[in-house]
Amino acid sequence: MDRCAYCRDVSIDEKALPFQVNKKEALTTFEYCSTECREAIEGFVEFSNSNLDRFVKIGFTLLFGLIIAVIIAKIYFSAVVYGWILGLGLIALGVLFFRYPFATWGVYQRLGIKNATRMLRIIAVLIIVIGCSHIYLLYV
Ligand SMILES: [Zn+2]
Repeated sequence: MDRCAYCRDVSIDEKALPFQVNKKEALTTFEYCSTECREAIEGFVEFSNSNLDRFVKIGFTLLFGLIIAVIIAKIYFSAVVYGWILGLGLIALGVLFFRYPFATWGVYQRLGIKNATRMLRIIAVLIIVIGCSHIYLLYV
């Protein structure tokens, strides 16, 4: 029994869409359960095709930069500077994940696009909260 790629409900039909994976566009078949889910899948594929590269680039740069900055701050600067850098870095990562909630293909297949996106947004908010609390705790 096939499942809707978006909500994991029982599929009624399938549609092949040009989906970009590893910088190569390939026709990928998506199962769907309703017109709404088909449109949601089309929207997701379009968003992913035009934003995934940007997300990976910004994500790697941010993560790499944050690790270097945190190490330098830890060694050479005060606890307050370290706390601000770590806090702001986490907030930036959280905002990035909220704006581009991309999961791996395996996660999409297991949870469906809808739940995977929701889960990533919740994690993103948690990362932002942890970042804010890092800064807040410097002053209490
Ligand atoms: Zn569905």
